[in-house]
Amino acid sequence: MKYDKLSKDTESIREVFNISVPALGHIPTQGQPCLLCGRRDFLLLNTFVLNDQRFHTVRCIHDGMMWLEPQPTEQFYQTLYTTYYHSTGPDDPLLEQATLNVHANVEERRHIVQLRVAQIEQFSQTGRLLEVGFGNGFLLEAAAARGWQVVGLELDQDCVKRMTDQDIPAYCCNLLEYPGEAEPFDVIAMYSVIEHVLDPAAYLNKTFSLLKTGGILVLRLPDTEAEGPPASLIAHVYHFNAHTIMVLLRRCGFEVLQIDNFSLWKPQRYPGALWNMNVISRKS
Ligand SMILES: [Zn+2]
Repeated sequence: MKYDKLSKDTESIREVFNISVPALGHIPTQGQPCLLCGRRDFLLLNTFVLNDQRFHTVRCIHDGMMWLEPQPTEQFYQTLYTTYYHSTGPDDPLLEQATLNVHANVEERRHIVQLRVAQIEQFSQTGRLLEVGFGNGFLLEAAAARGWQVVGLELDQDCVKRMTDQDIPAYCCNLLEYPGEAEPFDVIAMYSVIEHVLDPAAYLNKTFSLLKTGGILVLRLPDTEAEGPPASLIAHVYHFNAHTIMVLLRRCGFEVLQIDNFSLWKPQRYPGALWNMNVISRKS
């Protein structure tokens, strides 16, 4: 299917799903301008209905930035990540896309974090590492075991407790709320985070302020094709590709060192697939 004009004809747009999740209730939303150019000139790519509310994935006609339109509010996501996200199962149709790593088997998750730590060590000497949105905490455990001084941030109190029970420093807050001193970290890692937040530029600016000069930022996020993601779910607010994340990183002062496609996700319920990319940047 081609999306070569600004379509108002929603009948031609693929509907990914139409489901109800009573626990979420009514979802307060607001329309958003493009993250990169600030305009609202977009194509409709696909759509889904959640609790009788319609959402679209859209793409800016000027620069290719893609996002969820309209977007739920901060309060909605606060509730989602503190009470729902880490305790739901892989069969949840709402979060199938997001639960891949959270609910993969333990052996596989332990293997993935070893690969991630090895990649980090290609770009940085062992030092101080902050992981934002650490989830199961396996990366913090693996990095600490290799001599890194680690700190973790997570919104789910149970995830935080699991770390502090092991004397791994962890805080129940988002990155923007983190009160740490300026420039203490050699590495900041955010796996499957930046596509979830309402203000990715604020997150990148904050990581810039928390990194030492020359420090490394590691992002993992979907590399979304121009026709949009195969399953556009409520948890993904922005849909980047290699071009759009590079534009944003450079705008926030980072030098992009490497982008690689790290893993392929094939949803069970929807056609198509989605590459995930690891993006390594340096505070110049
Ligand atoms: Zn734009």
